[in-house]
Amino acid sequence: MKDLQSSLDRPALLSPLNFIDGEWQSALSGETFAVHNPATGEVIANVPDSQPVDARAATDAASRAFPGWREKLPKERAAILRKWYDAIVANGEDLARLISLEQGKPLAEGRGEVAYGASYVAWFAEEASRIYGDIIPQQQRGKRMTALKEPVGVVAAITPWNFPLAMIARKIAPALAAGCTVVAKPAEDTPLTALALLKLAQEAGVPAGVINIVTASREHAAPAVGDWLADERVRKISFTGSTAVGKYLARESAGTLKKLSMELGGNAPFIVFDDADIEAAVAGLMASKFRNGGQTCVCPNRVYVQSAIYDRFADVLSTRVAALKVAPATDEAAQIGPMINARAIDKIVRHVEDALAQGARALTGGKRLTDVGPNYFAPTVLADATADMLLFREETFGPVVPLFRFDTEADALKAANETPFGLAAYFYSQDVRRIDRVSRLLEAGIVGVNEGAISSEAAPFGGVKESGYGREGSRYGLDDYTTLKYVCQGGLA
Ligand code: NAP
Repeated sequence: MKDLQSSLDRPALLSPLNFIDGEWQSALSGETFAVHNPATGEVIANVPDSQPVDARAATDAASRAFPGWREKLPKERAAILRKWYDAIVANGEDLARLISLEQGKPLAEGRGEVAYGASYVAWFAEEASRIYGDIIPQQQRGKRMTALKEPVGVVAAITPWNFPLAMIARKIAPALAAGCTVVAKPAEDTPLTALALLKLAQEAGVPAGVINIVTASREHAAPAVGDWLADERVRKISFTGSTAVGKYLARESAGTLKKLSMELGGNAPFIVFDDADIEAAVAGLMASKFRNGGQTCVCPNRVYVQSAIYDRFADVLSTRVAALKVAPATDEAAQIGPMINARAIDKIVRHVEDALAQGARALTGGKRLTDVGPNYFAPTVLADATADMLLFREETFGPVVPLFRFDTEADALKAANETPFGLAAYFYSQDVRRIDRVSRLLEAGIVGVNEGAISSEAAPFGGVKESGYGREGSRYGLDDYTTLKYVCQGGLA
C-alpha cells in the first residue's frame, strides 16, 4: 500500500477504507480483501470486506442526508459538482495511474477514462438547474395542474471493473444533480479509483452522508448489496454489469418495488457492407474493438463482412491487429494491456478454442501471451466464424475479432439481431437509403454509422432487450433519478 501511495503525486488521495457519513472507516468486522495488479498478479492494497451491517450504516447515513441535500437549490448542488469536476481534472494523472494499475488499461486510455468520467460530472452540474416540470394547460376552471420532477431518494449504485472511474461518476453525478443521495459498491477488482474519487468529492464539499461507499469481496458482494435490495429506504438501483447479475438484482429487489436502471451486457454486431469505405471501417473497428483490450460493453463482438470485400477486409484488418503492442500499462507504448483476471482469460481461451475446433481460422493471434504476464491474450482475428460458435452467442470480452461472412442486407440484419442483447450496433455503408433503413432496423439502444467511437456525456447511453433499460448521460439521464409528482390545486376560480 505504501508503494502504491508513493507512486501518486498526492499519496493522501488514497484511503483504503469505506466512506460512510463523511468518515473513512474499516468494515465493522475489521476484515479486508486484497486488490491485485492484473499485469503482474501482485497485491497492491487491502480494502474493507464489507458485510450487510456496513451497507446498512451507509443507507442510514444516505437517508439522514437526503432531506438536507434535496432542499439545496439546484445551483448550490451544481456548484459542488463543478468543484468535484475541477478536482478530478486537477488530479487526473494520479487517477489515470490508479485506473491503469488496478484495471490494467494502457495509461493513455486511463487518461481518456478520467476525461470521459469527468465529462459526466460537468454535464450534470449544468443539467441540475434544468430539471423542468410542466404546467398542464387548464382543463377545468379553478384548478391548476402541475407536474413536478422530484428526486427519487436514496440510490444504490453498483458498478463493474472495466471503467472504475467513469461508471461510478456517471451514476453519482446525475443522482446528486437531481437531489438524491447515494450508497455505492464498486467492483471487487477495482475499488481504489472509486475511493480516490470519493476523496475528491469530500474535498469538493459534498456534505457528509450524501455519497457513501462500501467495498466488498466477490464473496460478500451479494449479502452486502442484499441489504440495500431489501431496504425500503433505498428507492433506486442503478446497476452496470452483466445481464445475469442485473436480472438477479431486479428479481431480488422486487419486494420493495424500486426504480431500476440496468446497463447490462452487450453482443454488438459490426456490419461492413460492400459499399463501405474499407479503410474507414477498419479504423472504426480497431477503435471500438480494441479499447480496453476488448473489455467494454460496446465492443463489437461479431463482425459481419459482405462476401465481395471479405478477403480484402480480413487482410487489411489482420495486418493492423498483428501490429498492436501488448504490454503492461507502465509501458507508455502499450496499446493492449492485461485482461482483468484469470476468469476473463479462461473465457477468451474457451471461446477461441471452440471457434477453432469448429472450423474458424486464426489470421493472427489466437493464443495466450504468458511471456508478457499471467493475464495477456494476443490480439486475434478469426476468419470463417459461424453462428454455432460460442463467440456468436456470448460476449467474449477480450481482444478477439470473429469475422462472419454475409451475402445480402437482409441476411446481415437477421444475423445482427439474432441475439437477446441490444446495446450497441455498428455498420459501415455509403448508401444513404441503406443508412436510414439499417439504422431503423437494428435492435440496439445505440447505433454507430460509419463511426466506431460513440460514447458521449451528451448522448443517451443504454440498451434494449436483455441489455437492460434506463439511460445514462444526456438530458434523458436525469429522468432515471427523478419521479413525477402531479399537483392539483383547486379553489382558484
Ligand atoms: P458483474 O459480474 O455483473 O459485476 C458488476 C457489479 O455487480 C460488481 O460490482 C460485482 O461485484 C457486483 N455483483 C456481482 N454479483 C453480485 C450479486 N450477486 N449481488 C450484488 N452485486 C453483485 O459484471 P462485471 O464482470 O464486473 O462487468 C462486465 C459486464 O458489465 C459485461 O457484461 C459488460 O458488458 C457489462 N457492462 C455494461 C455496461 C453498460 O453500460 N451497459 C458498461 C460496462 C460494462 P464483484 O466485482 O465483487 O463481483
